[in-house]
Amino acid sequence: MKKVDIAVIGAGPAGLQAAISLAEKGYAPVVFEEDPIIGQPIQCGEGISENGLNDFSIPISNSSICVRKLESCRLFFASELEVFGDITAYTLNRDAFDQYLADKALDLGTTILTSSKVEKVIRKEDNLLIRVKGKGNSEYECNLLIIAEGCKAKIAQSLNFSEPSPLIKAFEYKIKGEWTDKLEFYFDSQKYPLGYCWIFPKEDETNIGIVTYARERKKRLDKFLKEKKISAKILEKIGGSIPMHGPVKKLHDNNVMLVGDAAGMVNPIFYGGIRIGMTSGKIAGDIAANYLKDDGKTSLLEYEKKLSEYSFMDKVNLECHNFFYSRTNRFLQSLGKLLEGRFINLIEGWEKIEVLSHLLKYPVLYKRMIKLYKMYKGFKIVRDWGF
Ligand SMILES: Cc1cc2nc3c(=O)[nH]c(=O)nc-3n(C[C@H](O)[C@H](O)[C@H](O)COP(=O)(O)OP(=O)(O)OC[C@H]3O[C@@H](n4cnc5c(N)ncnc54)[C@H](O)[C@@H]3O)c2cc1C
Repeated sequence: MKKVDIAVIGAGPAGLQAAISLAEKGYAPVVFEEDPIIGQPIQCGEGISENGLNDFSIPISNSSICVRKLESCRLFFASELEVFGDITAYTLNRDAFDQYLADKALDLGTTILTSSKVEKVIRKEDNLLIRVKGKGNSEYECNLLIIAEGCKAKIAQSLNFSEPSPLIKAFEYKIKGEWTDKLEFYFDSQKYPLGYCWIFPKEDETNIGIVTYARERKKRLDKFLKEKKISAKILEKIGGSIPMHGPVKKLHDNNVMLVGDAAGMVNPIFYGGIRIGMTSGKIAGDIAANYLKDDGKTSLLEYEKKLSEYSFMDKVNLECHNFFYSRTNRFLQSLGKLLEGRFINLIEGWEKIEVLSHLLKYPVLYKRMIKLYKMYKGFKIVRDWGF
C-alpha cells in the first residue's frame, strides 16, 4: 500500500489542470491515467476560445499546440443565411495541448502514472483506498481525491454521486485541406436533433463533425459533406460522448471533488468542455491545496461556492438548451432571417431596438419573447465562455 496526500483520476485537461494548481502550491499529486499516451486517442473538435487559452497561459504562439486563430464564427439556422458569433478562437492539436499540460504538471512535481486504470475506490473512515490495475498496479491510500475521469463518471457513480449528465454522441472526420476560414456551426432540428454539424479549419486539414441525439450519425455526416460538396480524403475518424445538460448537482462530498466532464462541466448549448473543465479543475486544485494545508478544516463546499460565481453554472444555460433544441426548423429559419449578418451574441445599443422592431415580422419568434430573451442570455454566456 502506498500513501499519497492527494490523487487525481484522469489525465484529461480537467485532471491535469487540477494537478497543476496543486503542484503550484507545493503539493505533489498523483494522477492515474488508464491510457498509455496522454492526449490520445483524440476525441475533440479541437476548438477553444482565445480567452480559454489565456486563462491558463497556454502559449498561443506555439503553432504545434495552437494551430490557427479564427476571428468570429458563422452560424446557420436550417438555411443558407449567415449569422455570426462574436468570439476569437483557435483550433488546437488537442494531443499536443494535453501533452503540454502534462509536461507542465510533471515539471512542477506531479507524478503521472499512465496505463494505470483505477478499478475501484473504497471509502475508509477518514481516507480513501484506490485500487489500480496496469503499470501503476497497487493500492494507494489518499486523504483527498479529485475525479476527472470524463463523461461516463463510473467511479463517481460507484461512490454514490448523482447520475451523470445525460450524454450526447459526436462523430467527426479529420479531412485533408481547408474547407472554410471560420468556425462554422449548422443547426437543423430535423437533420441533427439536439445538436449540429461543425466545420473547424486547421492548417491543411479540417475537422468536420456532427453531434446529435439521433442515430446514424455517420450517415447524417456523410450527407452533410455531400450537401457542402466536400469530397477530400478522410484522414481519421473520431467518436465520443459529451455531457449534454451541463453541471451535475452534487460536485463534492467529504473528501472527493468531481471536475470536468465527470461533473458535467460542459456548456450545454455548444457542448464545448475544455475551458470550463479546466476552470473547475483549477478551482478544485486550489481548494484541495487549502484543505491539505489546514489538515482538512477547509470544507469542500467551498468548491461549489466558488464555482457558483461563474456564469457557466447559471441555470439559464440549460434553459437555453431546452428551448433552443426543441424548436422547429421554421423557428430556426425565422431566427436566421431576423439575425442575418448580425452577431447573435452581441446585440447592443440601438441594434437591440432595430432587432426588436424586426421581430414583429416573425410571430413564431415574438410569441416566445421571454424564452427568446433567455436564449439570448445563454448565447451571451457562450460569448464569454466559448463554445
Ligand atoms: C467528438 C468530440 C468533440 C469535441 N469538441 C470539443 C471542442 O471542439 N471544444 C471543446 O471545448 N470541447 C470539445 N469536446 C468536449 C471536450 O473534449 C471535453 O469536455 C474535455 O475533454 C473534458 O475534459 P476532462 O479532462 O473532463 O475529460 P477527458 O478529456 O475525457 O479526460 C478523462 C481522462 O480520464 C481517463 N480515465 C477515465 N476513467 C479512468 C480510470 N478509471 N482510471 C484512470 N483513468 C481514467 C481517460 O482515459 C481520459 O484520459 C468534444 C468532445 C467530443 C467527444
